[in-house]
Amino acid sequence: MQVQCLSNGQRLTLDAAAMLGAGGEALVYTIPQDRSLVAKVYRTPDKVPARKLAVMVTNPPADPMGSHGHISIAWPVSLLATVDGQQVIGFLMPRVTGRHPLIACYNPAIRRQQWPLFNYRYLLRTAHNLAAAMRALHARGYVIGDVNESNILVTDTALVTLVDTDSFQVREPRHGVVYRCPVGKPEFTPPELQGCPFSQVDRAPEHDLFGLAVLIFQLLMEGTHPFAGVYRGHGDPPPYEARIATGHFPYTRRRQVPYDPKPAAPPFDLLPPTLQELFIRCFETGHTQALARPDASTWQRALQGVEQALIACPANDQHLYSHHLPTCPWCVRTQRLGGRDPFPSRQAVQQSQAPQSSRSLQRPLQPIGTPSPVTPSAPRRTPGHPHPTTGPWHSMRPSPSRALARPSLLASVCLGALWGTVSGVLLSMIVYVLMQRPRVSGPLPVMVWESVQQAGGSAIWGGVWGTMWGMCRRPAGPGHNSRLRRILTGAVLGAVLGLLTSALLGLTPGSTMSMPQHTVLELLGSATWHASLPRIREMFGAFVASLPLHALPGTILGTILGIVWGVWRR
Ligand SMILES: [Zn+2]
Repeated sequence: MQVQCLSNGQRLTLDAAAMLGAGGEALVYTIPQDRSLVAKVYRTPDKVPARKLAVMVTNPPADPMGSHGHISIAWPVSLLATVDGQQVIGFLMPRVTGRHPLIACYNPAIRRQQWPLFNYRYLLRTAHNLAAAMRALHARGYVIGDVNESNILVTDTALVTLVDTDSFQVREPRHGVVYRCPVGKPEFTPPELQGCPFSQVDRAPEHDLFGLAVLIFQLLMEGTHPFAGVYRGHGDPPPYEARIATGHFPYTRRRQVPYDPKPAAPPFDLLPPTLQELFIRCFETGHTQALARPDASTWQRALQGVEQALIACPANDQHLYSHHLPTCPWCVRTQRLGGRDPFPSRQAVQQSQAPQSSRSLQRPLQPIGTPSPVTPSAPRRTPGHPHPTTGPWHSMRPSPSRALARPSLLASVCLGALWGTVSGVLLSMIVYVLMQRPRVSGPLPVMVWESVQQAGGSAIWGGVWGTMWGMCRRPAGPGHNSRLRRILTGAVLGAVLGLLTSALLGLTPGSTMSMPQHTVLELLGSATWHASLPRIREMFGAFVASLPLHALPGTILGTILGIVWGVWRR
């Protein structure tokens, strides 16, 4: 299957051998030209959220770990369309490898098997990095909506990547159009949205913050869901969604609920008082006051403070715990679990596990990422895009694939230099014409007609302008994405500009001061018919000799500006 990458018009081949996965709504392919990207192609063209994806591509969030070379949010980087560019069928996004689902961290059994040295510091850092990613999204007006453990991947160094980003709720920044998130998992859904049809609800950050608190609770409480407990009422225990809807948080201190904490769960006091307070704020106060839920940056600060104050158990340096506890809670828990240590020592891991699995866990944690400040900015119009968006262009995350998404530096500089040269010559001539204009006599229509008659060079100018327009235009959005259309548009525009150029040249007094286009055209025609070397040399010499000298400074300046433009354009 051939598709077109709309950010640069490049054609990509997606074949069945390169398929990474197939879901109910889309297929995911590797990209032969760039292994750092994957293509997600929707099965049903009618279900492609093209407008939503276009807003996402042009307004990415600031990745909190971007400066450390890690992708925290697998954000769409380009739209994919049919070969003719007429229909959006999917998008390109960074390829995420070497990560495990979040459940591999917080489920003690899976963690012991896969990452036995992923200790409490790593769990705190994972929670911190998850909060940082959510904060970056909220700062840009995005809402995850479908917060759940399967959309979050983790590295063995506690770095987090949010995936399935095309399901996020997107608000178009300029007009406020909301593209909703139609899905959600009940156990991560706040009480006020329980039972609501997600496709009819505008989500808000405080809805995400409920799910965030659930996940942090699970990370720090050995996988225990905050609403898990032993039911003391009659009949079957209600499901999580009913407990959330009624606000029956088993660890509440202010009200009676028909649940006791699960005996196998760690005690709530294991958590430092600052974190206990934040969970109470989210699950108890936040039951009726959604805005009371701690935001992502509050979680970040609290988790960072707890991590910095961890102390190690003298018996096992993998036992890290909050300094507010008098003794090591993990030694106590190991005893309660009949000797099964949630954080086994390095010696125990080396004795019981394959060597490579323990070696892979010795990698240290990355520094804590700090989200880039999000500053308000003036609206930016993307040429050809149906929905202008706001956002500082200089803060946009560079594409992971420079080779795929952008032309080479040399090509950009050459194009920029050529563009600048042409601009310089043209501007110099216009200035000259404006200076000479008062000396010209005779009725204006006659002058214009004469100038048009002399405007044989408009074809040359049109070709130059048109080519440059077609090649150098910024990437277009859906509906304006055909390369052929861009070049045709450029050719028309170039013809008009060329006509104007030549017309202006024709107004100059005395053809010797301007480019003698008749001569050039005649020479061109002659060279075509009699392609002899002396003839071409004669033509070139005449062309050079006819260039107006006053265009020289403008040419030099234009070349310099063009090179600068070319470097920036890359
Ligand atoms: Zn201990």
